[in-house]
Amino acid sequence: MSVFVDKTDIFIKAGKGGNGAVSFRREKYVARGGPDGGDGGHGGNVVFVVDEGENTLIKFRYKRKFVAENGEDGKGKRCHGKTGEDLVISVPPGTIIRDKASGKVMFDLSRDKTFVAAKGGRGGWGNAHFATPTRQIPQFANPGLPGQEREITLEIKMLADVGLIGFPSVGKSTFISRASAAKPKVAAYHFTTLSPILGVVRQDAERSFVMADLPGLIEGASDGAGLGHQFLRHVERCRLFVHLVDAAGSEGRDPLEDIRVINRELERYDPELLKRPQIIAANKEDLGIDPEVKEKLEAECEKNGWKLFYLSAETSKGVQPIIDEAGRLLSTLPPLKEYETDFVEIEKEEPDYTSQRTTVTREGDVWLVEGEWLAKFIQKINFADRDQVRYFQKVMKDSGVEDAMQKAGVKDGDTVDIYGIEFDYVY
Ligand code: GDP
Ligand code: MG
Repeated sequence: MSVFVDKTDIFIKAGKGGNGAVSFRREKYVARGGPDGGDGGHGGNVVFVVDEGENTLIKFRYKRKFVAENGEDGKGKRCHGKTGEDLVISVPPGTIIRDKASGKVMFDLSRDKTFVAAKGGRGGWGNAHFATPTRQIPQFANPGLPGQEREITLEIKMLADVGLIGFPSVGKSTFISRASAAKPKVAAYHFTTLSPILGVVRQDAERSFVMADLPGLIEGASDGAGLGHQFLRHVERCRLFVHLVDAAGSEGRDPLEDIRVINRELERYDPELLKRPQIIAANKEDLGIDPEVKEKLEAECEKNGWKLFYLSAETSKGVQPIIDEAGRLLSTLPPLKEYETDFVEIEKEEPDYTSQRTTVTREGDVWLVEGEWLAKFIQKINFADRDQVRYFQKVMKDSGVEDAMQKAGVKDGDTVDIYGIEFDYVY
């Protein structure tokens, strides 16, 4: 028996960036060579990728900590440290990654098949970067930055167009094995299926859809009875339900009562679920169905706007019309639900510019703006990213750098150099 695990918390940590090196060229007959300390390598990322062959998170039961490789430190002769290797973690399709602390969605892996969940720290700049006309012998380099780390929650919300719902032993496993190539266990006792089974149902030569056998729905499932919560989680993305009942009452069940109970559980889990289309599939017709039950079923379906089909999953009679109707309905329905990312990274480290000095000096046509904090800060800014540039501008203003520049006489259109990055100064 396999245990189905579909929600779990883990800790991930990306690699730290390697430190930049402080080093000077040594050459024959050259008394003091220039700085040649190389940069540290970037830390490895923690990356999630979808593996279509997986359907449970069981492997995370015993391993909960995932740490990517650190970047190597830079070396002399401008040698850059090696980039840390990414840590790649495979997960089943439909996995959603949340930030554990806030519960917010970081990413839905049904949208894209890879996601970088923790970014490696940048490698520090070696002192080769810090030489300027006024500072020929930089005795410092930047340390590598730490990699991102966080507790996350992984959760599978299966990707199935059609959810097959119904009480235990009504014939769900039998039905899906007739409708698709899936080979679930069929047995005359309850709870034979402990994990959802997915089957690809072929409508015709070109079209197919995915159907999931969702076992474990019983009274109280929405309170967690049986494996209720685990299975209800999977119905969330289904676009329509085929609701199977034992219309022959072969185990003394009342099919009408069963429909009501299951729907009540769906509603209590999420009222939205009841709005999705349902096809009522009255099974075990081969055993004979009481005309009175038929009449009640028909009235109930009429009342709720459900289509009703009679079938015998055992003999396959009546299975095809249900597939046809499901396919027809799907073509009218919106695509599978994707979860929007609502988790926003917060810049934690404000640079400490209050206690530190910034100097502005002129070197020929260029203004050099320097300060130890600024050397560290500018390295973290990705100038290809608009938001980060805006943030950079804000810090330049708040920290008084702009005032210092204006006081020093920097004019509109002048060239400003901040640790190797040149700007045209615009007021
Ligand atoms: P599940 O628990 O809903 O997955 O139900 P199963 O598919 O395991 O079926 C439960 C029992 O009902 C098994 O013994 C099946 O052989 C039987 N069964 C399923 N469909 C039919 C049917 O159409 N007619 C008859 N007579 N028995 C069926
Ligand atoms: Mg079953």
